[in-house]
Amino acid sequence: MRCVALNILEMTYDEFLMAIKDLGLERYRADQVLDWVYKKHIFVFEKMTNLSKEHRNLLARNFSIDLPEALDKRVSPLDHTTKYLYKLQDGNTIESVLLFHEGYATACISTQVGCPVKCSFCATGKSGFIRNLSAGEIVSQILAIENDTNQTIRNIVYMGMGEPLLNYDNVLKSVRVLIDEKTKNVGVRRITVSTVGIPDKIVRLSQEGLDLNLAISLHAASNEKRDQIIPMNRRYTIEEVLHAAKIYQENSDRRVTIEYILIREFNDFDEDARRLAKLLKGMKVFVNLIPINPVVSNMERPTQWKINRFKEILLESGIEAEVRYEKGADIEAACGQLRIRHLQK
Ligand code: SF4
Repeated sequence: MRCVALNILEMTYDEFLMAIKDLGLERYRADQVLDWVYKKHIFVFEKMTNLSKEHRNLLARNFSIDLPEALDKRVSPLDHTTKYLYKLQDGNTIESVLLFHEGYATACISTQVGCPVKCSFCATGKSGFIRNLSAGEIVSQILAIENDTNQTIRNIVYMGMGEPLLNYDNVLKSVRVLIDEKTKNVGVRRITVSTVGIPDKIVRLSQEGLDLNLAISLHAASNEKRDQIIPMNRRYTIEEVLHAAKIYQENSDRRVTIEYILIREFNDFDEDARRLAKLLKGMKVFVNLIPINPVVSNMERPTQWKINRFKEILLESGIEAEVRYEKGADIEAACGQLRIRHLQK
């Protein structure tokens, strides 16, 4: 019977260690292999030169290291934001983005092929949902980007294609892989999970003892408006989502980020800002105000005056807020755009 090679990127350190021991190899061999993969970006056993030929052959027969293939890559001449369209082993495609902020690189990674949530302002939502990514497919995006750019990624946001909390187990496993000091050793406080808000999953996440950063895509201050742009709001109201966020904040003692896309003459009125401030009163939150990228939808960006005013109302109400412009707008870096272009070919 032909044995199926196990993808190392799907495995936690303990799982890999167990598999290595099952092959009759010493414990430190696991550390050596992971060092090659995660620190030196060597993805073929043949090149792992501190292992004997016999061991390299044994490993190659039993394990694989599956990285996605880059079908497209766009680099912004404005801010160096780099967007990848990756092909997975089964031919499905996903997007990953590398963003640069003062001195550090952040990877924005996908968790699903497509997305079932169907937010009205999102290109990914329009393309439908195909499947969840495995933990290894999530981890592999980080290694593929690092390998291409020689950048060490220290910050990760689960904010690409897909709703992370609808792929809870694989997302959590990928986090556990990435934070292990034997693998990527990413600081858990440098990882952000961004969600439209699934209350029971947010509460569950708060009990994992991981203290990840949590970002909630709220985008409206009334259920009536949120229903129109995030269909899932009909199932979980703003109040339910924020109640769960409050539990998360209390259990983790982490400040929760509230994402709010500003759309002209839809959710940019003074009344929306005041209502938002009232909803968030007493919570330890930070609001990111994101003027909408008009390229992705038929919705318009508010005037600069309106954007500033919205922020001022929040600040005057004691809510911390900042305006954040989407990076890479010139290279279709908004979630799902590149993939849709590819699918339409
Ligand atoms: S914004 Fe996020 S949750 Fe909404 S459809 Fe797009 S990928 Fe899905």
